[in-house]
Amino acid sequence: MPKLEVRDVRKIFKEDKNETLALDGVNFTVDSEEFVCIVGPSGCGKSTMLRIIAGLEHATSGEVIFEGTPITQPNAKISMVFQLFGLLPWKTAQENVEVPLEVMGVPKKARAESAKDYLNMVHLEGFENTYPHDLSGGMKQRVGIARALALKPEILLMDEPFSSLDELTAKKLRDLVLDIWRKRGEPPTSIIMVSHNVEEAVYMADRVIVMSKRPGRVVGDVKIKIPRPRSKYLREQIYFGFVDEVMEKLNIGDRSTKQSIETSHSS
Ligand code: ADP
Repeated sequence: MPKLEVRDVRKIFKEDKNETLALDGVNFTVDSEEFVCIVGPSGCGKSTMLRIIAGLEHATSGEVIFEGTPITQPNAKISMVFQLFGLLPWKTAQENVEVPLEVMGVPKKARAESAKDYLNMVHLEGFENTYPHDLSGGMKQRVGIARALALKPEILLMDEPFSSLDELTAKKLRDLVLDIWRKRGEPPTSIIMVSHNVEEAVYMADRVIVMSKRPGRVVGDVKIKIPRPRSKYLREQIYFGFVDEVMEKLNIGDRSTKQSIETSHSS
């Protein structure tokens, strides 16, 4: 049984009299310990898909099954890293990591210890008492990652976690996440990451799911068969081959959606 199963998910947003079909029959599965990346053009529904998996948004039809049970609300075993970090500015790094633990009812001493451990894991020892405005973008995202990991999730969701960072910082954080993911294993964590950066997706993921232009549908599912660690393959043909394959599927998804819109308008 897959760890997570997205079944025929459709999502219509209704605002006043306007309806937006964001997702149109999305299907995919994620296995235990698998790293899946979702790529697609801006506005195709990637974040919406992630929010539905997180239980923060409801599908209009279809469902997401986690360990055999449909997701209807946020689940402590599924945590999220946000593009713009989502830190509370009036709380220190450590207090930010503690927030979800406190919500889960973890006692004060245990959550302080756990927050410290996870801040160490992302190399932020010594910054426990620093407030977000005194941290760089990369450090803020390290806090965001520590906060998500402190919940010991079985599925870690990441919504464009590196896209607001400069490339050098993004590169370091990609390797940090890969390192942590490879070394931990307790509990075994699957990762679902949204990205609009194909090279990043191919560098990090076991599988890249390609979505079409809005309304989002799955138009490609590419297994990235490059050994890890992948840094040594970055200039190799095998790496560019997979980047090309994903790009090709993105282009096809773009064209087929345009055609179907044009056809439906002309009929
Ligand atoms: P992506 O992450 O791929 O850029 P999103 O999931 O953010 O795409 O958005 C998909 C579509 O749904 C877009 O057209 C967006 O404007 C629309 N949308 C997203 N959230 C809402 C909302 N809360 N209300 C209305 N429309 C929304």
